[in-house]
Amino acid sequence: LLPGALSDRGQQMTLGVMGGGQLGRMFVQAAQAMGYFTAVLDPDPASPAGLISHFHIQTAYDDEQGLAQLMQRCDAITTEFENVPAPALVTLGAHRPVAPSAPCVAVAQDRIKEKAHFLACAPVSGVYPAPYAAIESDELLAAVPADLLPGILKTARMGYDGKGQMRVSTREELASAWEQLGRVPCVLEKMLPLQSECSVIVARGTNGQVVSFPVQANTHRDGILATTEVYEGAVPADLAERAQASTVAIANHLHYVGVLCVEYFVVDNGTGGQDLVVNEMAPRPHNSGHYTQNACDMSQFEAQVRTLAGLPLPQPRQHSPAIMVNLLGDLWFEPNATHAERSERAVTPPWTQVLALPGTHLHLYGKLSARPGRKMGHLNITAPTVAQVRETAAQVLQLLG
Ligand code: ADP
Ligand code: MG
Repeated sequence: LLPGALSDRGQQMTLGVMGGGQLGRMFVQAAQAMGYFTAVLDPDPASPAGLISHFHIQTAYDDEQGLAQLMQRCDAITTEFENVPAPALVTLGAHRPVAPSAPCVAVAQDRIKEKAHFLACAPVSGVYPAPYAAIESDELLAAVPADLLPGILKTARMGYDGKGQMRVSTREELASAWEQLGRVPCVLEKMLPLQSECSVIVARGTNGQVVSFPVQANTHRDGILATTEVYEGAVPADLAERAQASTVAIANHLHYVGVLCVEYFVVDNGTGGQDLVVNEMAPRPHNSGHYTQNACDMSQFEAQVRTLAGLPLPQPRQHSPAIMVNLLGDLWFEPNATHAERSERAVTPPWTQVLALPGTHLHLYGKLSARPGRKMGHLNITAPTVAQVRETAAQVLQLLG
């Protein structure tokens, strides 16, 4: 599907995306930069991607007419979030190239299937998930091994940014947490003493070729990604190599096509060294890969376009040390404002001072209202040296409070 060519329907070559959030928006931007027309399916009339796309189909993700319109418009279709109903992708995939495929998305959107996949890959990847048990019935709940406590109970589906998770220390707490989560299928994971967290993004083409981006060191706050640092030494070289190899194995084993992100924990291995634990995967570009927009010669979104359109996929190269800082809705309010004051006391963050610093790249998602914890944008910071990028990031964080 060459950019700028007419499709066999005599229309401009058009790439579609299920979901209109910020990831869809940045996919649309990358596709448009290469000359593609774009179509977004998202029910929200003000969705960040819908606002800037050539076509915006405003229906539910499983609406037959909406899906038919999307297929009529598009030469190939991708997704920007894992909770797109897998049957919708099956429908689309029967008529158009869809990447990632419905079966891959189905694995990523269910923690029980996802962990089983990680276990299946472990003999090749050498990296295991945290000890866990699936909880789908009273019998399974009663059979949970005691050494999984204290643990974290996570809903099998629909969790993100720490939502749908409860920490539990005793069997009683576990039982009541499962009640509170509505007795939906869950996994109980052993709570691990994390030393740090990292993630890896790979892109895999229809021909099975895989390229990987550098390993990303992530810091979370309140269950939400706060910063990502990517430069030599941000993750110890031996762990970085293992994480990359494991991610490639996970993608290959699924015959994955598209951009895939896998998250890892770094833990103490009990003998003074460090070990990797695989946490979860996202069948799409990932917040921790946003630095690629300004620090690499191919962004994760361009990689998504290339894999979807069947374009060449050379190995991306990082040209600058980078730190990504997430911009949450909290920044739009005075620090000590009460909830009631928030609507009146909205402020604009200090962009003038931030953008005066060298190597700061502002990305805002065009969301029409700010809420605490809502992802409004991110800043990519680049510099010629690690020391400089860290220095600029420290200044940015001070300005943002
Ligand atoms: P989400 O879908 O919300 O990103 P995650 O499973 O990645 O869910 O969990 C969110 C965060 O919670 C992780 O990034 C990590 O900081 C923490 N966490 C998750 N599982 C564990 C665990 N087994 N032990 C310790 N911390 C965990
Ligand atoms: Mg996560």
